[in-house]
Amino acid sequence: MRPEILYPFFAETVSLPGVGVRIAKNLEKVAGSRVIDLIWHMPIDIIDRRSSPNLKDILFDQIATLEVMIGKHEAPPPKSKAPYRVWCHDDTGVVQLIFFHGHSDYIMNQLPEGQMRLISGKVEVYNGNLQMSHPDYMLSLDKRDEIPQIEPVYPLTAGISTKVMARIINEATLRTTELPEWLDQSLLDREGWPRWKQALANAHHPENIEDISNHCLSRTRLAYDEILANQLALEIMRRQTKKKKGRPMQATGKLIDKVFDNLPYQLTKAQQRSLDEIKKDMAEPSAMIRLLQGDVGSGKTVVALLCMLVAVENDCQAAIIAPTEILARQHYQSLLTMTEGVDVKIGVLTGRDKGKARQKILADLANGDIDIIVGTHSLFQKDVVYHDLSMAVIDEQHRFGVEQRLSLSAKAKKTMAMDILAMTATPIPRTLTLTVYGDMDVSRLDEKPPGRTPIDTRVMALSKIDDIIAASQRAIENGARIYWVCPLVEQSELLDLAAAEERYRHLSQIFGDRVGLIHGKMKAQEKDEVMKRFMAGDIDILVATTVIEVGVDVPEATVMIIEHAERFGLSQLHQLRGRIGRGADQSTCLMLYGSALGTTAKARLKIMRETDDGFIIAEEDLKLRGAGEVLGTRQSGLPKFKVASLEDHSGLIAMARDDARLILERDSDLSGQRGKNLRILLYLFERDEGVRYLKSG
Ligand code: ADP
Ligand code: MG
Repeated sequence: MRPEILYPFFAETVSLPGVGVRIAKNLEKVAGSRVIDLIWHMPIDIIDRRSSPNLKDILFDQIATLEVMIGKHEAPPPKSKAPYRVWCHDDTGVVQLIFFHGHSDYIMNQLPEGQMRLISGKVEVYNGNLQMSHPDYMLSLDKRDEIPQIEPVYPLTAGISTKVMARIINEATLRTTELPEWLDQSLLDREGWPRWKQALANAHHPENIEDISNHCLSRTRLAYDEILANQLALEIMRRQTKKKKGRPMQATGKLIDKVFDNLPYQLTKAQQRSLDEIKKDMAEPSAMIRLLQGDVGSGKTVVALLCMLVAVENDCQAAIIAPTEILARQHYQSLLTMTEGVDVKIGVLTGRDKGKARQKILADLANGDIDIIVGTHSLFQKDVVYHDLSMAVIDEQHRFGVEQRLSLSAKAKKTMAMDILAMTATPIPRTLTLTVYGDMDVSRLDEKPPGRTPIDTRVMALSKIDDIIAASQRAIENGARIYWVCPLVEQSELLDLAAAEERYRHLSQIFGDRVGLIHGKMKAQEKDEVMKRFMAGDIDILVATTVIEVGVDVPEATVMIIEHAERFGLSQLHQLRGRIGRGADQSTCLMLYGSALGTTAKARLKIMRETDDGFIIAEEDLKLRGAGEVLGTRQSGLPKFKVASLEDHSGLIAMARDDARLILERDSDLSGQRGKNLRILLYLFERDEGVRYLKSG
């Protein structure tokens, strides 16, 4: 249960003064719906109003607070589009205040002729004349205190101004109280970090431009807090898993050897090594929690199957969970192929199985008739009961949360821990591995199966679309199948869809019914249907939003066209490209860009042309990914941090890991004084999943 001291942090933003339903909606778009979301919403710039120059000294555009005498008002003639002007002066010069669509009553009230006023805002130099449009502040001289000297500037959204955002976030920070210190005093002393509340105050009330840098002491402390919470949570999970007794399962070879006979290829060295590591874990009496990391196409599925068969050889059941229905069905098919003639019963269960069919599968699972079950998260559901599930594979594990992993573990026989093999194709930069997989042992498939032809990657302007269509036509005549991926539009699924549908209509006019469309809003069955037609070659071009990103395997597809490639994260492009180049034929990937590319965008696409190594791409992606270029990262598999910047604070990760290990070694239940404080930290950053495994403190 969340500690009471944090209740105000997790209140809805509408509870803040001046935040109504409309503003709350807008806030939600840019930050979130709770007070805590505003607290973590950090300024990205400052407005410095300290400059108070004489008018004659203003030579360039600048933010300034002016002390001026109000002169003549010049209202525009009725119905004219001209602005309302107010002439002001000091002893040295003249400045015009300009209001578009101004309400003259209001302006006359605020700026009475013949009176002194403080005016703060951006002065612009226009043909040697000074003007200021819509001043931020217009106050009488005695109210100087109401003008903030330095104002934080936050990432904004339509409907909320800088001023309003700053005021609301200030209200949010006023809701916070000092929290009991969870960091070691010696660490605070050594690093010169402030206490939590002070750090937060500093972060939101910057006094100069350094104060909004990720490297300033206050932000570093807040980032460390967050990374420590992340590492503690992972370490708690890790200790939890390791503590439980697992079932030692020795491979007998009874089934595995038969599968080896079936395979038309030899395992790569990396596959063999990973398999050995996993088998060794499974033979141990403690539970396995291992990650199999391997680029797209590195051959994880066969490794997963062989490991699941170890469980079956020990008269246990195994499960493999995929993030989408299509993928689950595809796994099911390939497992059936690989186990042809082998004495193992494989079933599949997804959201689409209903009624009698579902009942039958559930019954077979409960009585042990099914040895290996393939499915989606429907496998975690309450009414799914297993006879003796002792091993689970989670494919594309970054699509699942820790919670889901836990509900899966709960399906094991009482008091027994399940062996878990997580798999991911997302190459995480080495510096970040700990933040993502800190709780797991890792096996890597760092070698691709032989016999693949490298993919020819080209970067082209979208304006060449006619040439591209003509080339597609030729490719299809030569038997190619084409993925045509439409862009992410401002992270809105609806707009994604519109773009894809438009391209689909366009291509259908040319290619007729040989074009298919697949997107996230379609029913699972419809998606399957289209996918099947593409696999069978009934359609040549599959227009898709990024739903095809994960896992699907259509070896005949040799062309990948990605529109507005500049809008995708590099890792995402890499995943997409990984859909092709799966057979022996030459494959081509066309990355199409919209308008003129900036230098960073160019550099990013260049990397895609130069390398096919997911690790290099992930590292570069991180390096080049500036603020505002994070589009596409929602599927990158990187954990979301609220304050910490993975680029700037990666140096803190190892430190926090060591700290977390030490903390739990000394106080494994977080029940000492510092432990109690650390529990608050975990709740603060919403990394409390593991807390319920600790004895209450
Ligand atoms: P991923 O790691 O992306 O899940 P898959 O398991 O789907 O990769 O494997 C990609 C393709 O490579 C499949 O068609 C599979 O049959 C093939 N494959 C796997 N291992 C080998 C190997 N050792 N030699 C040749 N082909 C392999
Ligand atoms: Mg796969």
